[in-house]
Amino acid sequence: HLYNQVQDLKGSIRVYCRVRPFLPGQASRSSTVDYIGDGNLTILNPLKQGKDARRSFNFNKVFGPSTTQAEVFADTQPLIRSVLDGYNVCIFAYGQTGSGKTYTMNGPKEITEQSRGVNYRALSDLFCISEQRRDTFSYEVSVQMIEIYNEQVRDLLAADEIRNNSQQKGLNVPEANLVLVTSTSEVVELMNIGHRNRAVGATALNDRSSRSHSCLTVHVQGRDMTSGAVLRGCLHLVDLAGSERVDKSEATGERLKEAQHINKSLSALGDVIASLAQKNAHVPYRNSKLTQLLQDSLGGQAKTLMFVHISPDVEAFGETTSTLKFAERVA
Ligand code: ADP
Ligand code: MG
Repeated sequence: HLYNQVQDLKGSIRVYCRVRPFLPGQASRSSTVDYIGDGNLTILNPLKQGKDARRSFNFNKVFGPSTTQAEVFADTQPLIRSVLDGYNVCIFAYGQTGSGKTYTMNGPKEITEQSRGVNYRALSDLFCISEQRRDTFSYEVSVQMIEIYNEQVRDLLAADEIRNNSQQKGLNVPEANLVLVTSTSEVVELMNIGHRNRAVGATALNDRSSRSHSCLTVHVQGRDMTSGAVLRGCLHLVDLAGSERVDKSEATGERLKEAQHINKSLSALGDVIASLAQKNAHVPYRNSKLTQLLQDSLGGQAKTLMFVHISPDVEAFGETTSTLKFAERVA
C-alpha cells in the first residue's frame, strides 16, 4: 500500500540503471563509470580532460557492477506484487548487445539459484503470494511468450511439445498460445522451449536474440472467493533488441533492414514512455508493433520499469552515452 502511494506520487514510470562488471579477463581495464550514487552516476569520457570529461545522470536507482541479482530483485518486487492486485506492469531491459539485458531478466548461461534473473524470481513470487492468499483469493496464471523480429510477431510457444492445456487464445496477443501454469518450474520449462524456438529461427542470421525483442507475458486472474469479484493483472517481461547503432555504410540487405526495424521500434518505445512521463494528451502507440501490443500495459494505471544497461568498457563509451541519453529522456 505504502509503495503504491509512493508510486502514485512519483508517477508510474521508473528507470533503473545497471552497470555490468568487467567480464573475466577484462578486470584490469579502466572503467568509463567514474562514480555511482544511489540514484545517480557519473561517466568519464576517455577522450576529454578535466571537467569536460564528466557527465552525470539521475535515475530512480543505479546498480553498480557488484550488485547481486537478489539486490536488483528486491527493488523490483513491489511492482510484481501489484500484478496480483490487478495492475498491469511492463519491465523492459534496454541496452547495447553485451551490456547485461539477458543477465538481468534471465541470468547467465549457466543459471544457479543465486544468479537467477528477474523472470524466475517474479514468477516464483507470484506463485508464492497467491499461495499465501489462497483462503481468500483463487488465482489463475497463464503465460505467453513471443518474439518481435522485423516488426513481425512470432509465437515462441507454438510448438507441438507444449502440453495441450492452452486456454482460449486472446488478450493482448490473440495469435499467440496462452498456456495455463501452476508452478514456477512449469514456467521455466516453457521458457526453455521458448528459447529453443527462438534459436531455431536463427539459422540464417547468427545471434538473432540480439536483434529481436522477446516478451514473456504473465496473465493473472484473481477471484475474490467471498464477493466473486475478479481482478486481472498482467506482467510483461521484455528483453529488448540491442540498442547499438549500426554503421549504415557497412550494413546492407537483411542486416540494414533489421537495424532499421530495431531503431524504429526502440525510438517508438522511447517516444511512448517519454510522452507518458510528460503526461502528454497524445501517446503515439501506433508507431511500432511492440508499443501496439503493450498499449494496455503502458500508461493509465499501468506501471513501467525500464532497466537500462551499460558496459563499463572504454570501447562502449559511445553506446553508453546514447543509452544514458535514451534513459534520461524517459525518466
Ligand atoms: P545482452 O543480453 O545485453 O546482450 P548479456 O546478458 O548476454 O548481454 O551479458 C553479456 C555477458 O556479460 C554475459 O556473459 C553475461 O553473463 C555477463 N554479465 C552481464 N551482466 C552481468 C552481471 N551483472 N554480473 C556478471 N556477469 C554479467
Ligand atoms: Mg541478450
